[in-house]
Amino acid sequence: MDKIKYPEVKNFIGGQFTANGQARMDVLSPIDGTVISKVLLSKKSDLDAAVEAAEKAYKLWSEIPIKERVQVFYRYKTLMEKNIDELSYITHLENGKTIDEARAEVEKSIELTEFACSLPQLVGGEILEVSKGVECRIDHKPLGVVASIAPFNFPHMVPHWTIPNAIALGNAMILKPSEQVPVTSNYIAEMLKEAGLPDGVFNVVNGDKEIVEAICDHPGISAVSFVGSTPIAKVVYIRSTASLKRCVALGGAKNHLIVLPDANVDMTASNVAASMSGCAGQRCMAASAMVGVGPIDHIVEKLVEEAKKIVPGKNLGSVISKAAKERIERYITEAEKLGAKVLVDGRNAVVENKEGGFYVGPTVIDYVKPEMAIAKEEVFGPVIAIMRTDSLDEAIAIENSSNYGNAASVFTQNGSYARYVMEKASAGMVGVNIGVPVPREPFSFGGWNESKFGTSDITGKSSIEFWTQLKKTSIKWSAEARTNWMS
Ligand code: NAD
Repeated sequence: MDKIKYPEVKNFIGGQFTANGQARMDVLSPIDGTVISKVLLSKKSDLDAAVEAAEKAYKLWSEIPIKERVQVFYRYKTLMEKNIDELSYITHLENGKTIDEARAEVEKSIELTEFACSLPQLVGGEILEVSKGVECRIDHKPLGVVASIAPFNFPHMVPHWTIPNAIALGNAMILKPSEQVPVTSNYIAEMLKEAGLPDGVFNVVNGDKEIVEAICDHPGISAVSFVGSTPIAKVVYIRSTASLKRCVALGGAKNHLIVLPDANVDMTASNVAASMSGCAGQRCMAASAMVGVGPIDHIVEKLVEEAKKIVPGKNLGSVISKAAKERIERYITEAEKLGAKVLVDGRNAVVENKEGGFYVGPTVIDYVKPEMAIAKEEVFGPVIAIMRTDSLDEAIAIENSSNYGNAASVFTQNGSYARYVMEKASAGMVGVNIGVPVPREPFSFGGWNESKFGTSDITGKSSIEFWTQLKKTSIKWSAEARTNWMS
């Protein structure tokens, strides 16, 4: 057996780490390609055990008033702050992003947890005397056992899109982390326990396709949230709603930045470079296509200068796997063959002393045509494909033609152009002079089109709708109330 850095990643069920005879899979660090741990590939029977533990815990947890439930998350937030160095290091090691990026990810988890602590202020029910002596009231009630399925690109933050809100609102949860980055979830489980969360309220079941399908089908699970690629989001949405669950499934992205010639050159170039290369381009909010309107050579020149400051292994992390590196490089090579011009070439990047790692350098590729695969498909690497248009309407048409609809941004100093893009972009999250327009709490996160299936968003106030159901009660307090209507 390989010498591994972290103990085998077990399931966390009913407050205990457990493992039986499940198969194991290696967990590699993409930084240098070494095996850092092993993860269980669970069976349906493991999920059954987790659902049983969660159902039992739910009965008690859901009856605790929300102001008491959130006390766990106040303590949990403090634990994350205390352990931020270790949490950031694990995320860096298993995902490949830089330590600074990993730290920013944990800081975002802290912000998401703070939002959950504010839920008692937001879910106060409504009450109204609807006729003399008769009141109607509405209360938010939890759903029961819910599941959260996560992708590889934010091992710490994406689980926190769902864990604090769903649990603070009274649900019991089963997390299925990405099998590529499962180590972080052990720490989440341990810290929630240390913060005082009762056993069984939070459970982790590791695995791959088999366990995701079992979650979709399981009759004991009321709601499923999914974050990952569009083809799998579709499968999860269709399969879990077919078994009568509510589901919100976030998918992939192709985010366009529309750049006008009047844009502030330094700010635009540095924002575009940071957006395309942050987390090695493996963000669903990363800029992937830049659409220049009219003469923008001066901005492209500055972008090239900025991109050259981004160095793999220093301020640019690795991509997740060898397969990802090969896929990204294939997109660049195909576009080049079709006539696009590679201005900064990140292919064949190697980092000294980390030759086994999976690195792609920053890549700026100009004169891309809208019909090329690199312009339409999700590349998910540190690559920006630049297209040129003569008018803002042409640029909007390119953005609107995408099947995705996560984010779009415009760079300009002209308010009416900015406003026009805000109105016309077919995306759930729009930026003006911002390269990564992620809404901060309490604003919710979620795309349009094939970037999200389901009605509510996954975070913020919108997530309250997803994780709760409304109980409507009509009360006649006094026999003297004159109204017998519908009594
Ligand atoms: P993925 O779809 O491959 O995996 C996501 C989850 O689905 C994982 O837990 C995985 O185990 C499971 N899974 C994989 N294949 C499956 C299958 N055939 N059947 C059932 N389950 C399966 O995604 P990924 O590669 O881990 O993450 C990257 C993708 O996630 C990108 O497309 C990115 O845009 C997207 N993403 C989207 C958002 C968003 O907010 N829209 C956020 C983060 C990531």
